[in-house]
Order: sequence, then C-alpha cells, then structure tokens
Amino acid sequence: MNNETQSKMEKIVSLCKRRGFIFPGSEIYGGLAGTFDYGPLGVTLKKNIQNTWWKHFVTDRDDMYGIDADILMNPRAWEASGHVSGFSDPLVECPKCHRRFRADHVEKKDGVQHCPEDNTVLSEPRQFNMMFKTNIGATEDPNSISYLRPETAGGMFVNFKNVVDSIHPKMPFGLAQIGKAFRNEIAPRDFVFRLREMEQMEIEYFCHESKWEETFEELRKEFKKWMLSIGLNEKFIHEVEIGDGDRAHYSKRTIDFEFDFPIGQKELAGLAYRTDFDLKQHSEFSKVDLSYFDEETKERYIPHCIEPSIGVERTILAVLTSAYKEEVVGDETRTVLSFSPSIAPIQVAVLPLSKKDELSGPAKDITKRLSKIARVQYDETQSIGKRYRRQDEIGTPYCVTVDFDTLDDLAVTVRDRDTMNQDRIKIDELEAYISKKLGL
Ligand code: ATP
Repeated sequence: MNNETQSKMEKIVSLCKRRGFIFPGSEIYGGLAGTFDYGPLGVTLKKNIQNTWWKHFVTDRDDMYGIDADILMNPRAWEASGHVSGFSDPLVECPKCHRRFRADHVEKKDGVQHCPEDNTVLSEPRQFNMMFKTNIGATEDPNSISYLRPETAGGMFVNFKNVVDSIHPKMPFGLAQIGKAFRNEIAPRDFVFRLREMEQMEIEYFCHESKWEETFEELRKEFKKWMLSIGLNEKFIHEVEIGDGDRAHYSKRTIDFEFDFPIGQKELAGLAYRTDFDLKQHSEFSKVDLSYFDEETKERYIPHCIEPSIGVERTILAVLTSAYKEEVVGDETRTVLSFSPSIAPIQVAVLPLSKKDELSGPAKDITKRLSKIARVQYDETQSIGKRYRRQDEIGTPYCVTVDFDTLDDLAVTVRDRDTMNQDRIKIDELEAYISKKLGL
C-alpha cells in the first residue's frame, strides 16, 4: 500500500467515524476484531443501498421473489452444501508469538513463509473451518451443534420447494435475499472489507440447463447496471474470469467483479454458475424431491442455478471510494462525498441564515413540505459556510438556504453540492424543482 492510497483509506475511516456513518464494534471495550457498528447516517446509507438492490432485482421484475430465511438452519443443510467439510481457509501459525495468518495472505521468501511480526518461520498450513459453531438448546453435545450461516444462499435452496408449491412460479425465476452472514475469518482487516459479521445480497436464479449461458449473461449485465446506478465508478470495476483450478467446488463458471478499493484491486462481488449442485445435494441429504415439473414442456428436471452475490459492506466501501473527493476552493480544501441522490443519507438540507424566528419559521415549513418527497435535514447551527462543508462531507446533494431576502421575494437559494452553483427558486416551485433534481 503506498502512502497516497493508505491515506485515502484512513481518511474514509476517519470521516465515517467523525460523521456518524460507521464505528468500530464495541469500541468502549477496546473493540472486537471484524465487527463494525452503523451510526445514524451509516444505517440510512446501508438501507438505501439495500432498497435500490431490492427494487432493481425484485420489485421491478416479475420473475424474482423475496425470501427472508433464518440465520440458524438445520446443520444437515451445511453438510449437504459442502460447508462442514470444505468451507475453510489455510491457516499458518507463528511458533514464537502464536499469531495466526491466512497462508495465502503471507508472501514467501525463497519458498518459505515468515511471521510478518518477528520473522520466525511459520508452521505448515492446516485447514481452518470458518463457520461459527454454536449449540442449540440447553445441552452442549455433538447433536446440538449448529452454525451461524456463512452465506445466505442456503436459506433459498432449502425453500425452493416451498416457493414452488405456494407461489407456482414459472421457470426461469429467481429467489432474492438480503441478510446477515458470519465467517470466522482468520485475519479480519481493512475496515469493512473483511469482516466476521456481514450482510449479503444474494440471488439464486433457477433455469433449465440449456438456458444457463444466456441467463448468466443477462444477470452479468443487470448486476453491472445496478452497480453503476448507485454511483460506483465504472473505471474501478473489473470483471475477472476465474480459472478452472480457482473456482468454488460447485461452480462451472465464475466471474468476480473486482474493484479498485484504496487497499488495491479486490473482490467486490461474484457471479457463479452453480449448476444443479445445490438442489441435487439438498434432495439427496433431505430425501425430499427438489425437481421442477414444467407444465408447458411436460419435462421434470432439477433446475440449474446462477448466483449473483455481493456483500453490503464491500458495496458501502466501494461507494465511499467512488464518492470521496477533496477539492481546493479558494484557500481551503473541501471534502465531498458525491453520493448518487438515490443513496445519499440526506438528500436536502434546509439552512436558515439566522436562528431568528422570522427565518427559522419558514425554513421549518419548507423542511416539513420537502420531507414528504425526500430525506431532509434541518440545520441552524454554526455559520452557513461551516454548514455547507458539513453537508458536503456527508454527501448531501442539495442545500436550501432561507435568507432575509426570502421574506420579500418568497424564494430560496438552492446550492448544488458538486458544482456549488446556486439557483434562486420560488418557494412555490421548490418541490417540483427538487423532485426533478433528485430524479424522483
Ligand atoms: P474472499 O475471497 O474475499 O474471502 P469470497 O470469495 O469468499 O471472498 P463469497 O463467498 O463469494 O466471497 O461471498 C460473496 C460476497 O460476500 C463477496 O463477493 C463479498 O462481497 C462478501 N464477503 C465475503 N466474505 C466477506 C467478509 N469476510 N467480509 C465482508 N464481505 C464479505
């Protein structure tokens, strides 16, 4: 990591904490590695991102159905999926300081791996299963073991039959889910990039085997379209075809969407052709027939599946990386998060030039009216310059300023975050103006 990129990550982390987006988990107790908590602005940003994903892939389509399965599942499901035997990373340990590292994250010198802390030769790699184990009920014995799900996909495969029997969807169709997933990562790091508790947005899209290639292509395009719609910088997105030896055991084709994070080009999302692996495995382990009968062709078959999968936190980091800018204005540097209006936590700030009732009264009225169409914040503290800077830093696209002229001309000034241009708009026309600007 060079100094410039390192400082961009540090600046993003610091802004997130200072402005109430993301805090280290359990901070007053010294933190807990791999966990982060969302503050008021962060939780809104996260929900906005999730809502755009849900709208794009579920609400706006007639071939996708939502699911909200539990985090705890019958452990047999994780045996069927291969996670109990194979969801592991190679772990190496330092015999001196006992620190543990992911073997594929430590470079070799002359064919040997050394401890990054004290240079001692590290142990041979052993496989470490990343699922969090827990016990169900009052007894702790092998029969009570369950797992916190390491991905949301399982909940959709085990409900395939329930959806088919209750909703009768026509093939092809998809199940979509947003939810928590847990991985006991050996070395969580890089802010919210590698976490132990995270959220995923996943789709399992089912089709006839003969249609997998066109389905894969359609979902690839839609996935990219959605990424651009939330403001990800297209130049930072790289589609990487994963080679034969490097794909997950269930996949016949995988494209990773890698992104130029401040820590380098890394995986943001994956698109995998999971074949009929999962439904077949779950049929075999549960002894329940998970085949599909096509009324039109009179064919019965196990559907094949394409999975677009993306982590919410990596999306947030990609959004922040795309949006973070520093600009010199006069003799000052302003920091801007140029969020797309669709995900900005606050879309409009209403700022009376003075706290006096004659200005705060109309400003509060405007706040009330605009709140019906947008996410609005009323702010009367500090100088107007400081308030603009604060709104720039939290990514608010428009600031509406109520000044003393407002009392005469019944108009307000609307400042654009990115251009800093100001328009004088009649209060009566403000809702229409803001709606148009926000693309509502
Ligand atoms: P990596 O190789 O970086 O460990 P992965 O290939 O194991 O990731 P998948 O199993 O494909 O990841 O999970 C789907 C998505 O979930 C990833 O593309 C990523 O966005 C997100 N994700 C996976 N692991 C983590 C994690 N530990 N912290 C945050 N997000 C994660």
